[in-house]
Amino acid sequence: MPPEFLRMIVVHEISHLKEPEHDKAFYQLCQHMEANYFQLEFDLRAYLCHLAAGGQPLWAAEVSAG
Ligand SMILES: [Zn+2]
Repeated sequence: MPPEFLRMIVVHEISHLKEPEHDKAFYQLCQHMEANYFQLEFDLRAYLCHLAAGGQPLWAAEVSAG
């Protein structure tokens, strides 16, 4: 998985420590930590749709078995 997506997920989870709801304050916090948060979230959602539609993982080769 690209590091941008990992960072976006981490930023999302860290923001939940302070803001439990997906409200305006939550997304402001996300964007404060990651300026491209909304673009990254959009890209990740598009990728998950790609998988849900039966698409192949785009970076399976990066996953190490050990
Ligand atoms: Zn959330």
